[in-house]
Amino acid sequence: MAKKHDYYEILGVDRNASATDIKKAFRKLAFKHHPDHNKDHGAEERFKEASEAYEVLSDPDKRAAYDRFGHAGAPQGFGGQGFEGFDFGGFGDIFEAFFGGATTARRAGPQGGGDLRYSLTISFEEAVFGCEMEVEIVRTERCSVCSGTRSEPGSQPERCSACNGTGEVRRAQRSIFGQFINVTPCSQCRGEGRIITKPCSRCRGQGRERVARKIAIKVPAGVDDGIQIRISGEGDAGTSGGSPGNLYVTLSVQKHKFFKRDGNDILYELPISFTQAALGDEIKIPTLDGDFTLKIPVGCQAGRIFRLKERGVAQLRGYGRGDQLVRVHVVTPQSLDAKQRKLFQELAKNLEEAKLPQDDKGFFDRVKDTFGGGS
Ligand SMILES: [Zn+2]
Ligand SMILES: [Zn+2]
Repeated sequence: MAKKHDYYEILGVDRNASATDIKKAFRKLAFKHHPDHNKDHGAEERFKEASEAYEVLSDPDKRAAYDRFGHAGAPQGFGGQGFEGFDFGGFGDIFEAFFGGATTARRAGPQGGGDLRYSLTISFEEAVFGCEMEVEIVRTERCSVCSGTRSEPGSQPERCSACNGTGEVRRAQRSIFGQFINVTPCSQCRGEGRIITKPCSRCRGQGRERVARKIAIKVPAGVDDGIQIRISGEGDAGTSGGSPGNLYVTLSVQKHKFFKRDGNDILYELPISFTQAALGDEIKIPTLDGDFTLKIPVGCQAGRIFRLKERGVAQLRGYGRGDQLVRVHVVTPQSLDAKQRKLFQELAKNLEEAKLPQDDKGFFDRVKDTFGGGS
């Protein structure tokens, strides 16, 4: 082995040089000596020397050891076997730092499983009161036979002979910056360092399988159409120890025969007859909690809204319930038989004579009253 030159001398910096100076000096030398520009005999050698010097002096620990012990500073010496003996990771970092490109292809680490989506239709009452449902999904899980190892139970994967189990192939490559070692994942074992000799017969060596599962879903009271529920960890399984994805259930709430929702309030349209409006009545109406007897007062006007407190939908997050709003519609008869017609005519005549207060004023007068502009 040739006598080693002093690293500071190689880079042409003094022993107190700052990290920036060292970096600058190396960059200069790297460009000066890279073999594509410099065909001089020995240029490549000088490039390697500079790289080795930079590799040591740019690392504060290695530099400190070198300052104290010289070339014997590291357990195996610094770059004892010359260029090929480099710490490849460190060398890769040099290229990353200077030329912005990694030379080391890294193997894929753990990957999280995919999220799953499910559309669940529930009834109006189920949305109001909450419910427990079961949905059936098909998802990817770790193979139940090989537990994700991908090998048939009882068989062992073999060490990859192409990469000696390291999962990496190192190849010396020439580039415009000179020769360097390119590290790529081994193509034989796809970077795993081992080869499955007997793939699991169930998953055909995939380590994962598609499984149908029933998942219990708890739908809280007060949900509404379009709300999404997340069930953590019930999505596809991850790979290489990655966490599983989530299951997202989007709710679709069916329409109700009578009720409409307005947030936490329930709207109910109540048709009543002309006579019920005039005379008053007691009418059984449906609510979420069963029938309720609503008292229609004498002379009830069309469009009047009755509010039934706390008969609405529970707050999804919080306490209490909304109300049920009952809007009165007066249904005018569309056809009358002779007798009814006669009765109405009599009634009309009678009302005209009695001049009931509410018929005394026209529509616009009543509006004026409402806004305080009455006479
Ligand atoms: Zn398997
Ligand atoms: Zn390999």
